[in-house]
Amino acid sequence: MKCERCKCGSVVKHGFVRRRVGLTRRYLCKKCGYKFIKNDGFKQYRHDSNAITAALDLRAKGLSLADVVDHLDQHHKVKISRKTILDWQRKFGEKLKSFSQTLTPFLGDVFHADEMFFKVRKLWNYYWDCMDYWTKFLVADHVSNIREDKEAVLFLNKIKKESPRLPSEIHTDCSYDYPPAFKKVFPRRRIHVQFPAWKKKFKNNPIERLHNTIKQRYKTFRGFDNIKSSTEFFDFYKVYYNFIRKHTSLGFITPAQAAKIELNLGRNRFKSLIERQWPKPNLIRLFLS
Ligand SMILES: [Zn+2]
Repeated sequence: MKCERCKCGSVVKHGFVRRRVGLTRRYLCKKCGYKFIKNDGFKQYRHDSNAITAALDLRAKGLSLADVVDHLDQHHKVKISRKTILDWQRKFGEKLKSFSQTLTPFLGDVFHADEMFFKVRKLWNYYWDCMDYWTKFLVADHVSNIREDKEAVLFLNKIKKESPRLPSEIHTDCSYDYPPAFKKVFPRRRIHVQFPAWKKKFKNNPIERLHNTIKQRYKTFRGFDNIKSSTEFFDFYKVYYNFIRKHTSLGFITPAQAAKIELNLGRNRFKSLIERQWPKPNLIRLFLS
């Protein structure tokens, strides 16, 4: 264990700190005299990590704020406001998003890109997302309030940036925004494949299923207040979708596992993923042969 201030290794146990969540082990750095408790990702929170991660998991599964408040009251014996739950969702969503960006997925050779509508205060907005067909990993997504070339270019650039290796094909439907955007972002590659009856041809395809799930969640959330809160929700849900949720069609593993990001998460996967950021994980990256 290292000192959190001077990073040296001469750290000894130094009693306990009484916190709201219970007694927590304290450490002392013999070199610089710094006293600290271990940062497990929940250090600055007043509530127990099991309660926090139960709330995150239930939110990702589509429970309303009122239902999560009730669950925590009944099963974790804590009274929490709806606002606190939204705060957790936002903060951990942000943290896990930047953590997930340090990991490199090993993806297949064909991606699917699609969009769906969602409402922000009675106005329609667009959620663009791109999935690797092989691992079901969500490679990139984009939120916009209009649908035009410029937004398609931003979206394609995100795909380019997020994929460690470009696929040989990216499938889309026949929207007019795509061809010029593809020419701009991938000028020298014939990567774009359009399917005229794409939705019919790939009935019940994974990206469609994801959109249906998001629409169900969105019903419970009764719409979003603004673009920012919807982006926060999509960031949070993307982490859940890639790293936490086990997919039946993948044989009960997560898309991250299918993409050879092996984090060896424990039983409580949200908690394990949050704790895994300290120290930075030692990643085992195997490659599909
Ligand atoms: Zn120190």
